[in-house]
Amino acid sequence: MDKKAVRSIREKLLSIVLLPIIVLSILITMIGVTLFYRFYTKSIRDELKATTNTMLDYLNIMVEGEYEYKDGVLMKGDLNITESTMLCQIKKQSQIDLTVFWKDTRILTTIEDAQGVSAVGTKSDSDVANMVLHVGRDYFPDNLVINGMKYIGYYAPLENGNHEIVGMMFSGKQKNLVYQKIIEVVLWFAVFSFAVVGFSVWITRKFSSHMIEDINSINQFLKTISEGNLRTALDERVVQRTDELGSIGMYASKMRRNLQKLIETDSLTGLYNRRSCHSMLEAIVQNGENYCVIMCDIDLFKKINDCYGHDAGDYVLVETSDLIRQNVQDVGFASRWGGEEFLLVYKLNFEQTKERAAKLQQSIREHEFCYQGTSIQVTLTFGVAKGASHKDYEQVITQADQRLYIGKNNGRNQIVF
Ligand code: GH3
Ligand code: MG
Ligand code: MG
Repeated sequence: MDKKAVRSIREKLLSIVLLPIIVLSILITMIGVTLFYRFYTKSIRDELKATTNTMLDYLNIMVEGEYEYKDGVLMKGDLNITESTMLCQIKKQSQIDLTVFWKDTRILTTIEDAQGVSAVGTKSDSDVANMVLHVGRDYFPDNLVINGMKYIGYYAPLENGNHEIVGMMFSGKQKNLVYQKIIEVVLWFAVFSFAVVGFSVWITRKFSSHMIEDINSINQFLKTISEGNLRTALDERVVQRTDELGSIGMYASKMRRNLQKLIETDSLTGLYNRRSCHSMLEAIVQNGENYCVIMCDIDLFKKINDCYGHDAGDYVLVETSDLIRQNVQDVGFASRWGGEEFLLVYKLNFEQTKERAAKLQQSIREHEFCYQGTSIQVTLTFGVAKGASHKDYEQVITQADQRLYIGKNNGRNQIVF
């Protein structure tokens, strides 16, 4: 049950930290990939345009003469373009496919289909022919498919000296290559996101482990109290915390102390009550400790009540209890056994306990009981009995009680052992 509670807090903490990170990572990846795709395709288009125009400029400036296509051979002046390895070399270096069209027919190209068959002899789309051959403008077609492969491509007119358009120059990059690059980018984003998530899990676990341990301590502490065991203590580390958990710990400890006081002590005298005296005696016997008991009773207390009033009787009880408390301090404990009857337990031997009884009798004799200006004469009768760890402590109490009774019968204000 406890472990379950702790685990669920840890899980909740992790989800509070991780959910926004995961959502943010997905968003950043989507936006990042979209932006990258735009910039990357734009840079490819620029590259294609530059490649095509550089080639055309080179041919126009460096090679004199007109384009001529005869018997399957493309010439520009004296330059045999068909035999030139120019297109292949550019493809090798930049993965850019190049094609030269005569009118709308491919006469030179680096494009091949999956079986390695060249696209020479095939024709361009009619919209390309329209735009480039007839209108005379360069052209970036959308959704270009050549030989079953998707391309980002660029067409420019091939002109002779008198601005006569005789064909087209095409350069293009397969979209597969672009997609590969995008997958690479997505993978990098994914690796980075995993690293961030992993780091967040580690940090959350590291910084929450103490907090969760302390929650567990408070949980355990309250559980023990709820089961009726008030003799428990909360880990000091929890109370030392300066946050809300420390505060909860402090109030829980305070609650335990007050509950214990309420349950275990007598409200008038502050001494232990009969019930808690039983459990403390049981603990002494269980620990195998030696002890002795004194049963004492205020003499003719009824008369005090009758003569001076009930409140005066209460005053006598409180004053007597203070003297008893001083007497047992550090060597045992005292309880209010009944109305004006007290059971004192000493972790001393019999002789020492008898001495304590004498000391208590003397301190009561010397104490001035004065209630609202009226002095009251108070005496007690004591019965002392020796306890032993193997002996039933009830028998020891009975023996002390019997001796108290003897003292009462023998005229009171005496110690019987
Ligand atoms: P003995 O010497 O034989 O013990 O005589 P006693 O008068 O002390 O004993 P008794 O049992 O006849 O009377 C005890 C009285 O104590 C009766 C009861 O009203 C009173 N008493 C019990 N508890 C309280 C209390 O809390 N306050 C006050 N004021 N009186 C109490
Ligand atoms: Mg009495
Ligand atoms: Mg009595």
